[in-house]
Amino acid sequence: MSDHIKEFCGVFGIHNHPEAAHMTYLGLFALQHRGQESAGIVSTNGKNFYSHMGEGLVSDVFSNPKVIQALEGSIAIGHNRYSTTGSCGLHNVQPLLARIQSGPIAVAHNGNLVNSATLRRGFENNGAIFQTTTDSEVILHLVARSKHNSLPDRIAEACRQLKGAYSLVFLSPDSLIAVRDPNGFRPLALGKMAGVHVVASESCAFDLIGAEYVRDILPGEMVIIDSQGLRSVHFAPSERITQCIFEYIYFSRPDSRIFGDFVDKTRRKLGKNLAEEYPAEGADMVISVPDSSNTAALGYAQKSNLRFEIGLIRNHYIGRSFIHPSQSGRNEYVKLKFNTVGGVLKDRKVVVVEDSIVRGTTLRKLTKLLRAAGAAEVHIRVSSPPIKYPCFYGMDFPTRKELIAHDRTVDEIKHFLNVDSLNYLSLEKMLASVPEEYGGYCHACFDGSYPIYVEPEISKNYLETGPALLRV
Ligand code: SF4
Repeated sequence: MSDHIKEFCGVFGIHNHPEAAHMTYLGLFALQHRGQESAGIVSTNGKNFYSHMGEGLVSDVFSNPKVIQALEGSIAIGHNRYSTTGSCGLHNVQPLLARIQSGPIAVAHNGNLVNSATLRRGFENNGAIFQTTTDSEVILHLVARSKHNSLPDRIAEACRQLKGAYSLVFLSPDSLIAVRDPNGFRPLALGKMAGVHVVASESCAFDLIGAEYVRDILPGEMVIIDSQGLRSVHFAPSERITQCIFEYIYFSRPDSRIFGDFVDKTRRKLGKNLAEEYPAEGADMVISVPDSSNTAALGYAQKSNLRFEIGLIRNHYIGRSFIHPSQSGRNEYVKLKFNTVGGVLKDRKVVVVEDSIVRGTTLRKLTKLLRAAGAAEVHIRVSSPPIKYPCFYGMDFPTRKELIAHDRTVDEIKHFLNVDSLNYLSLEKMLASVPEEYGGYCHACFDGSYPIYVEPEISKNYLETGPALLRV
């Protein structure tokens, strides 16, 4: 029902902590926004692996404190997952566990591989048995088949054969290994607290456990953490860095630090640049579509010298399992999720800042609610360009046909939304808003310039007009 794109996963790992599983549980809690359909933790005491995973929120999966207590050891990794249609189910819950020649191993993956179909077919043709339908399982097969002796060498060789987005945490009986793909699509950060090393998709996980952010794990870098300490290896050259710009626009938490900067700061800048490019003259106030647009709306209001008001209230207590008995119930979902503040909106000319528009259906209903609450004018400002293309690098997008901007002009979208004005931030201004410390960005969902070729078997689910659409 959500009209927002969903993140696929969040990963966490910790080394040398007496309560490694409990810390991982907290870390996953902080990363809950990156995946709400399943969660899992694997820990080790150096001899055995202990695991618990299940479908649901972290608080559901680990509701019994005894479950965490049973996860022994001082090293652990964890994973939050959002499953796409057809791939949910307990068998796909991560971390994935296997026993290979060098011993037991577990892996948690954030991202999406774009050559997994070929790799998997090759293994299956040679008799390999797969336990899951995820792309992540080919990583374990590649590690298992490597002829190298050491685990880091095996993982490095495996990763050199992967294409696409992968931020990975591996667990072995004596080490925690973190890997980020050479393009650096998904974030992965390194943290520290009193002799303990941690890695996480976003630094907000460090804040919750009292660890401090050290740095990002770099594109093409592998960090090995064991009893000898921490060492870093560049397992593949990083020829073209294409970090996902959408992490800054919407996915990551505003209190996180990713790609070398604070999300809050960058999101605010997106709002300021939007105000500069598309001011709203004559408006009375700026409101946001809570919560994801709050920061950009603040930036917009600051730059425009307009009041920032709370015009929409979001209900945070609608469970994922809310049942929609009928089509009319479906229409009421927006009303369940958002309510208007009549006293703020009545007879006012309102600028609504939204971070992105996917299908446009929610925003259309929100506009109706705002008008019903008495808003005299509704002006939409979007802190990113129109989304015209799907993502193959770890975000759950609807098909291209479902994206409202794929075949409509901004004016047509304005009419569909029934608003007084509609403007999107330009691609140039968006790129001018993000930090350049670690290199470039992927913005393929806006302009179709995909940085890595995607196998037709993977792209066909999203591109109803055919894979010829892909420009690499
Ligand atoms: S296509 Fe869009 S969502 Fe996907 S990685 Fe690129 S910028 Fe991010």
